[in-house]
Amino acid sequence: MPDARVRTRFAPSPTGALHFGSVRTALFAWLTARHAGGAFILRIEDTDQERYIPGTEALILETLSWLGLNWDEGPEVGGPHDPYIQSLRIAVYREHADTLVADGNAYWCTCTPARLAAMREEQRARSEPTRYDRRCLTRQAEVAVERANGIAAVVRLRMPDGVSEWDDLVRGHVSFNNADIDDQVLLKSDGFPTYHLAVVVDDHLMEISHVIRSDEWIPSTPKHLALYAAFGWDPPRFAHVPAVLGPDHQKLSKRRGARNVLEYGELGYLPSAIVNAIALLGWSSGDEQEVFTPQELIERFTLERVNSAAAIFDPKRLDDLNGIHIRRMSTDDLVEALEFPLPGTSKETRRQLIPMLRERMVTLADATRLCAPLLGEIKLDESVEFPPKKVDQATAVKMIDACIEAIVDGGLDNHAALLERLRAVAEAAGVKPRDAFRVLYIAVLGSPTGLPVIEAMMFLGKEKSLQRLSDARARLG
Ligand code: GLU
Repeated sequence: MPDARVRTRFAPSPTGALHFGSVRTALFAWLTARHAGGAFILRIEDTDQERYIPGTEALILETLSWLGLNWDEGPEVGGPHDPYIQSLRIAVYREHADTLVADGNAYWCTCTPARLAAMREEQRARSEPTRYDRRCLTRQAEVAVERANGIAAVVRLRMPDGVSEWDDLVRGHVSFNNADIDDQVLLKSDGFPTYHLAVVVDDHLMEISHVIRSDEWIPSTPKHLALYAAFGWDPPRFAHVPAVLGPDHQKLSKRRGARNVLEYGELGYLPSAIVNAIALLGWSSGDEQEVFTPQELIERFTLERVNSAAAIFDPKRLDDLNGIHIRRMSTDDLVEALEFPLPGTSKETRRQLIPMLRERMVTLADATRLCAPLLGEIKLDESVEFPPKKVDQATAVKMIDACIEAIVDGGLDNHAALLERLRAVAEAAGVKPRDAFRVLYIAVLGSPTGLPVIEAMMFLGKEKSLQRLSDARARLG
């Protein structure tokens, strides 16, 4: 039964392109919503003017769209809680900050950065945790006068006493002693909210049921719970997903140059394979299955099966999955998808090439390299030994002559017979067919590996194949 109450969101800050770690958060939120038949909301958290990188909202939207992670409410599509861009909602946060102050759950603070720095310095010298000492909390009348005189002020949360705890859908029970938590700034002196105020106000107003985000936000959650309580709102469920580590076991991050996911598209990775690989970063189906279509993931995904240990991104696994997803594509889809790697080819040509290519591509871009000898001339590479290792000159000549003779006899019409005939020549010469065939690969494709050579000759046709074989024959002397 679809459950419309399940509403998840992805709330990226436009501070850079999306990498595998951030897309993983988006994917888990999207899958949770789609699995339940609920809604997935996209919200742009752009209130931190200093970290803002222009143009990255557009990249984020493009990445999610390319991966098929469609949103029901958010930029471009709108929705009942418009706008979904925080910088357009500043008045909402200010109003909520005023309510908190009026109710005594937050207070104005005019401490200067210099005073705060000195305070922290002293705390450090006394080996105490560095936190705001609540000086302004005890002098609110004076602070009001200072503000009236134009002195810069921020609003701070008055962190309540006691304990903050929640049952995290990934982490299990989490609890913090509130005495260890600072009085967080909620509204900055420029009137902009901090992340903490904006995220709670928006998650509530947008009726988010499950907050799914990176576990680096766990220490912030007690502050958020204090805000929910101060407003008298029920908090959502929380699921803090662990970090994604690169192959070097370091956390993937924009700052460490993690690759923009869109670049994988340019390299010939399929969105479905990327989604499959990202889903397996911390989630498992509970059985042996590892290859999933997005639809299968929607059916199988639950947050309960997300592991709380950090996940490691393995590029080899992505390659394997990409190859598998390519092999599962329909010929019609491949004809379309190969237009970019095989520019200038007709649909018909691509259709002819696909049976040779399908099993041999890790990425779609591999088609460019593999098909180059069939779509253009071969380039003779000095580093390619000819005749190849384990094949003597006489056997190489025999292989080429036999192939030329067979083609002249109409051999390209019968794949199996041609293969048999050439094998027999290799065996009669006492050379392993696999080694002897390399002679033909080099003659026809310019390289000892690549597309299957008999099919390649069939594609090239009699005239071109004979030409390449006789050119190679001439090189053998
Ligand atoms: N804007 C925050 C980020 O980019 C979102 C954190 C959250 O999901 O609450 O990490």
